[in-house]
Amino acid sequence: MPGCPPVPTVITGVLAHFLTFGSIPELDELGRPKVFYGQSIHDRCYRRPFYDKGLFAETFDDEGAKKGWCLYRLGCKGPMTYNACATLKWNQQTSWPVESGHGCLGCSEPNFWDAGGFYQALSIPEGDYAKMAGYAVAGGVVLGAAAGYANQKTKADSVSKHTEVSVDDFSINNR
Ligand code: SF4
Repeated sequence: MPGCPPVPTVITGVLAHFLTFGSIPELDELGRPKVFYGQSIHDRCYRRPFYDKGLFAETFDDEGAKKGWCLYRLGCKGPMTYNACATLKWNQQTSWPVESGHGCLGCSEPNFWDAGGFYQALSIPEGDYAKMAGYAVAGGVVLGAAAGYANQKTKADSVSKHTEVSVDDFSINNR
């Protein structure tokens, strides 16, 4: 159970599973229980709608930060990190790093500590997010059922518009 430290609920959950069933839960390719490490922080983050719209805090005290915008450009490693912080949170579900205003550090990933600067963005988004979001909304209004597809495409376009320095910066190519 990786983490710095691991989420207490994760530790308890794995122990409870072992005591109940006599075995450990199904593991991923890195030996982490899939039930807790099966999805990325990014996919469960409550700031994700801001990421999808291209709304990013540029400093820790600018207007974007005060409005709760995405912390990607401030070095958040949520897109490359698999853990349960975004759903289980910490201290009896009081909060978690991104909710407190700081990006995810990627502590449950291989080579943590030696995987690049905490405040170095994985990459810089290059797309026209406002334009893409506008297309998605327009598609939803006009086409109804097509809205889901349009929004999915907007996400895919947003992701594909990032430069490829991201993975190298984070040094987890061995996943
Ligand atoms: S980049 Fe970080 S703050 Fe932004 S949506 Fe992903 S996990 Fe949340």
